[in-house]
Amino acid sequence: MGTKKRVAIMTSGGDSPGMNGVVRACVRMAIHMGCDAYCIYEGYEGLVCGGDLIRKMEWHDVRGWLSEGGTLIGTARCMAFYERAGRLTAAKNMILNGIDALIICGGDGSLTGADRFRAEWPSLLEELVSTGVFKADQIAPYQHLNIVGLVGSIDNDLSGTDATIGCYSALARICYCIDLIEATASSHSRAFVIEVMGRHCGWLALMAGVATGADFIFIPEKPREDNWKEEMCGIVHQHRKLGKRKTIVIIAEGALDREGNKITPEMVKDLLADKDGLSLDTRITTLGHVQRGGTAVAYDRMLATLQGVEAVKAVLEATPDTPTCFIAINENKIIRKPLVQAVLDTKEVAKAIQRQDFDLAMSLRDTEFTEQYKSFMMTTAGQLDKEILLPEKERMKIGFINVGAPAGGMNAAVRAGVAYCLSRGHEPIAIHNGFAGFARHHGDKPLGAVRSFNWLEVDNWASKGGSEIGTNRELPSESGMETIANLIEQYEFDALFLIGGFEAFHAVSQLRKARDQFPSLCIPLTLLPATISNNVPGTEYSLGSDTCLNELVDYCDKIKQSASATRRRVFVIETQGGRSGYAATLGGLGVGASAVYTPEEGLSLDMLAADVRHLKEVFAHDKGQSRAGRLILINEKASKVYNAKLIAEILRDEAHGRFESREGIPGHMQQGGVPSAMDRSRAVRLAIRCIQHLEKFGRNAHNKVKVDPMSATVIGIQSASIVFSPIKILEEEETDWANRRPKAAYWLGMKDIVDILGGRPKYQKPE
Ligand code: ATP
Repeated sequence: MGTKKRVAIMTSGGDSPGMNGVVRACVRMAIHMGCDAYCIYEGYEGLVCGGDLIRKMEWHDVRGWLSEGGTLIGTARCMAFYERAGRLTAAKNMILNGIDALIICGGDGSLTGADRFRAEWPSLLEELVSTGVFKADQIAPYQHLNIVGLVGSIDNDLSGTDATIGCYSALARICYCIDLIEATASSHSRAFVIEVMGRHCGWLALMAGVATGADFIFIPEKPREDNWKEEMCGIVHQHRKLGKRKTIVIIAEGALDREGNKITPEMVKDLLADKDGLSLDTRITTLGHVQRGGTAVAYDRMLATLQGVEAVKAVLEATPDTPTCFIAINENKIIRKPLVQAVLDTKEVAKAIQRQDFDLAMSLRDTEFTEQYKSFMMTTAGQLDKEILLPEKERMKIGFINVGAPAGGMNAAVRAGVAYCLSRGHEPIAIHNGFAGFARHHGDKPLGAVRSFNWLEVDNWASKGGSEIGTNRELPSESGMETIANLIEQYEFDALFLIGGFEAFHAVSQLRKARDQFPSLCIPLTLLPATISNNVPGTEYSLGSDTCLNELVDYCDKIKQSASATRRRVFVIETQGGRSGYAATLGGLGVGASAVYTPEEGLSLDMLAADVRHLKEVFAHDKGQSRAGRLILINEKASKVYNAKLIAEILRDEAHGRFESREGIPGHMQQGGVPSAMDRSRAVRLAIRCIQHLEKFGRNAHNKVKVDPMSATVIGIQSASIVFSPIKILEEEETDWANRRPKAAYWLGMKDIVDILGGRPKYQKPE
């Protein structure tokens, strides 16, 4: 029998939330794949020093790590690794410990170091043999250094991936702080200049600007025009004239002007406070290291886990001919990409900024970055390029309607849609309380459910949870299709923008089908999916689903911790989601559940019995390693018979005092309070795309609408792109109407990962 492969994992460079999730996933996946797992403590320092800093890890060593902030295996800046001598010692230590493969989670510096190490490896081995450290046969099994990179960084500065592990947690913290600051700014009518991290990358500043609806931002890649001082003061003045009582300016720490001179928060403050100018009471807040702190948000836990698993697969599948890769995510897809190119491209951005070639710097960022920059400009009144205003005859009257249960990001989407409409000269109109509100009448007269938007009022909605224009589950058929058709005609709507979940999807389907009968319905319709259940066909992501996962993960963390005194406790948590197991599965991935029950898979007595047996076994062998409780997540409709309470009772009865069991039902908490930064920023981007799509039809488009399937669509994120899908195709081919969910879902396979990393034995259905 050959020796087991030894896979080592290390975190390096600045710490970022999610690194512990990476280590947990790599350690457990490596063990699952029959390898020995090692951790290198203190980054490259551990590799150079060796000894106790290279440790073999067991399955239970990483228990509970998903919910811990920072990196538990430490990280350090290691000067020795910059030198060949340091890398030579590192190579020696790798061989002494028999390590075949190395997974490195860090920023571009760490990955550059990794690539250098890999490129030099043959010559390092040669030197180790020629200097007599090893004999030729000792190094024979290590001819090829197998390295895979994972990008852990709060800056989101690595080219080739949409998100780095930790960036959404840092963004969440920034938005949380800005939301707090906004309240006091508004109370005192103050201006705040907020400095966020990002030396060569403005992602955090940009996304925070989009998500919070800041007045002005400064980022390194796209300096403002030479007259930025007048421009900023002009915009702030305009916002104040419109009635805004607060001013928020976000500045990345690497912000520059077009000549390459640094723009500091003090400079901005002096301008805003200038007695001869705006004369605003202005304060500076430097967020500093709070941006790194704390536990990872659900998205980073998911990213860390899926990428960690993929990294282990990549090192095991690599051959000497495979180019060294890193694990990236593009929109929603985890993929392997060449490491060298990504590192080169990343360095190119910093160099382009240094050369003041800002167009190149911007072009080297991914499409989302450029699009979000435009989104920011388009949704902040006063920053608009005058050319985007449409000629009078092309301006449309667009109805905005929310349908279904509230979901985080609905208001941000309305805000962005309204701001974009105003910038184009369209007339955005609010339809209050869904189709039920629209159809409410007194005699012949509608009851005022249709109103124009007020920019100032809507501008405040970026961070608001719920639905400010009101939402309702009623379908057009229930409100009366004829009434709805008549109202659309009466108000002369040229298009309808719907935001909502499966009911909204059903509503668009009904409206489309009724077009033959009611010609006034021949207007373009588009739906932006927003539901915590994430069950709308045509998209892999719905607004609000990220907020829901954060709430769920938060709830589970607290509940798990509450068991730290008793240690031996299993919690059975019931999640929402209708007949979609998305929240349960992704929540399970984020908290490291012992089992997840979904409607897609169902729950049989036999399956439950297998899990009960397994848990009894786990607790029988638990020698006190369990610092906190264990979790089972069950979707509310996973079974008609077994619910959280009943399962908790069964477990209690079966445990015979060996462990305890409790149920927990977070209920409507899962809709969340303040929407997540991701839901808010995606809401802006997707809402603008929706209005742009409607705009293509223009006014009086009845004939075109009748024949064009793209006149009734759902916007969605699918794999690596944003797409509009015709509802006709979705409703006929991709919808499981009985279960109110798409026929296929990309995340179904993630349940296997929850099971593997949770240590749950593979369930075999009885013959
Ligand atoms: P962050 O994004 O937080 O800055 P980073 O990984 O880019 O993370 P660095 O300090 O640049 O952080 O790099 C971390 C470590 O990686 C360094 O201390 C050094 O040990 C190693 N390293 C970085 N660049 C190189 C290089 N060119 N050659 C060899 N080793 C390097």
